[in-house]
Amino acid sequence: MVREEDSQQLQVETFLVASGRPERSPGASVNVGVELTSTYAADGVVNYARSGNPTWNAFEEALGGLEGGRALVHASGMGAISAALSLLPAGGTVVAPDTTYNGTGDLLAAHEQAGGTVVRVHATDTAGFLAALDTAELVWLESPTNPLMDVIELDVVLARAREVGVTSVVDNTLSTPLLCRPLSLGADVVVHSVTKYLSGHSDVVLGATVVGDTERGRELGERLRRHRTLHGAIAGPMEVYLALRGLRTLSVRLERASANAAELAARLEGHPSVARVRYPGAGAILSIDVAGDADAAERVCAATRVWLHSTSLGGVESQVERRRRHPSESTQVPESLLRLSVGIENVEDLWADLDRALSAV
Ligand SMILES: *Cc1c(COP(=O)(O)O)cnc(C)c1O
Repeated sequence: MVREEDSQQLQVETFLVASGRPERSPGASVNVGVELTSTYAADGVVNYARSGNPTWNAFEEALGGLEGGRALVHASGMGAISAALSLLPAGGTVVAPDTTYNGTGDLLAAHEQAGGTVVRVHATDTAGFLAALDTAELVWLESPTNPLMDVIELDVVLARAREVGVTSVVDNTLSTPLLCRPLSLGADVVVHSVTKYLSGHSDVVLGATVVGDTERGRELGERLRRHRTLHGAIAGPMEVYLALRGLRTLSVRLERASANAAELAARLEGHPSVARVRYPGAGAILSIDVAGDADAAERVCAATRVWLHSTSLGGVESQVERRRRHPSESTQVPESLLRLSVGIENVEDLWADLDRALSAV
């Protein structure tokens, strides 16, 4: 365990390694255990494991510290997103980018079907977001957007949301707290698919919410906690243990993956089979529009041997996918767009494999 006063002084790489550990004492384990119990002897802090577990506490301490707030672990990213959207009153108005993570898009559509209002604004239309905030109860933000890689002016939109009292939620899955800390920009709630970079090894499905350590943050945090406990989408302790294990190496993984992504983005700019490269200049995800149709893009995916043709992102292994193969993907996404989640392999192997696959179309 890192004491609160120490954690303020530690640099992020050190905090990743030091946080969420048991108290140091002679003979103590260096890692938190996987506590397999459904119930606890009476009169403790937690009496039933749907509302708490020591393995969760360790992960929540680490992620909360990284985001600068208080974290809750959820059964999946969608579990976290559902909890965050529960802050929106029935029939209320939400402002969101016109392309969001497709699961979020489906939940927003369900909100509309139930009589609520969704105002969709293009990610780069800052003035549009600011104007829409006047009539909204909640603003949903993701930056960069997936898979178009558009960047939202988070600081501007979040500052105005705070000013006019609109609850703000940022899906920080693609950026991670190493590249963006939305709470420090004024966000009320951060959500994560822990499945992706935070755990980093494509071996768990898990989510998290984080709120600020303020009166308002604690009030929202209690509502999120209540949602988690009563709707029951809770994480298994083994998954949380694996996520905390993965989190230890987040900074080295992201450093390598981002360097690989920047190098590939630069090389792909000149590739004759690539019509457009979409790379926001940071992070480890980029998208390319293949010069050709959907079939040509599918053939690229089928031809790679190092790159894994699969959905998902943020693992140590490089992954490629044509997003429009999913019927729920936005029609704003070109048919030939491939999303590349760049891993930590040797960049020359990644380039050789991709260049060969692209050149074959
Ligand atoms: C994957 C993902 C989600 C959903 O998370 P799950 O863990 O799959 O439930 C939400 N938002 C973004 C940006 C994602 O990439």
